[in-house]
Amino acid sequence: MVQSMTTTDTRDVDATVNQIARLAEAGCEVVRLAVPDHEAAAALKSILPRVSIPVVADIHFNYLLALEAADNGVHALRVNPGNLAKKDYIRAVVQKAKERELPIRIGVNAGSLEPIVKEQHPHDICAALVESALLNIRLLEEEEFYNMKISVKSSDPMTMVEAYRRVAAAVPYPLHLGVTEAGTLKRGIIKSAVAMGILLAEGIGDTIRVSLTADSVEEVTAGHEILKALGLRMDSADLISCPSCGRAEVDLHGLANQVEALIAKVDLPVRVAVMGCFVNGPGEASHADIGIAGAIGNYYIFRGEEVVCRVPESEALEAFKAELESFLAENESMLKDRAKNAGRDAVLV
Ligand code: SF4
Repeated sequence: MVQSMTTTDTRDVDATVNQIARLAEAGCEVVRLAVPDHEAAAALKSILPRVSIPVVADIHFNYLLALEAADNGVHALRVNPGNLAKKDYIRAVVQKAKERELPIRIGVNAGSLEPIVKEQHPHDICAALVESALLNIRLLEEEEFYNMKISVKSSDPMTMVEAYRRVAAAVPYPLHLGVTEAGTLKRGIIKSAVAMGILLAEGIGDTIRVSLTADSVEEVTAGHEILKALGLRMDSADLISCPSCGRAEVDLHGLANQVEALIAKVDLPVRVAVMGCFVNGPGEASHADIGIAGAIGNYYIFRGEEVVCRVPESEALEAFKAELESFLAENESMLKDRAKNAGRDAVLV
């Protein structure tokens, strides 16, 4: 499942509801909200009836906020029991989570490890992350609470990868993956894709968040693309396009961007190719369902290896759009079967 987090002030109900609507529209499946004080916890009561996706309340230190968020209808809590100061407070949160059947995510972060853990592992962040996760897990298990999910995030992708591997080997709980403070749009996506790609390919990870210093909608788009590249999701169209080279005699980059926009709302896993030349293009895109390839001011539209028609460059986009619509209508059930064969069971937190 693809998650994101709001960047609005949770106390601003309208702004938060609007941002969640944008995230849901982009494909966000679970959203986390910061709940830093009682006003924010109270705002949840107004926010929750107006949103269409599950909401996780992110709480630090104050157990009363967790109780209030739970009573106000959130679907899950992100709270580290080790931060709640007293056993009685942990017990109260666990009791509430049990009553309301809420999962709890233990979210360990390299930037906010407990002092005792840092002292034990002064030069080994990975070991400290794992130790902190196991400590927090034990606190919940001691209360016979097992409906939990774990994250061990670091801003260093390979530290994060190793920490998740160790936690996955040590406990049976689902894992929420993330490279924390991953950076701005391009850098953040690359770091997240590398780290999550390794883990997901090894079968580790149940939900993901691509954490970006950018519009949260970008986090959602990137998350879906990562799952799609791994074959774990097939719920949208994929674009195959060549980089262009000296053989291309058309404006390939322009057409590729237009086709990308054209397929943005397609919710079937059709493979679309946009190639610069006809000599190599269809061959290089042989696994595409439908494609378009340039040829001296013209474009050929093809399905598989079969040419459907040749059109002048000025009419290429419209002609391709029409052919794509026909292809989707004729092949809907085949594409739905393809979509069914992707993915694994998802877990909510
Ligand atoms: Fe070059 Fe043609 Fe290959 Fe595109 S498909 S990279 S234009 S050879």
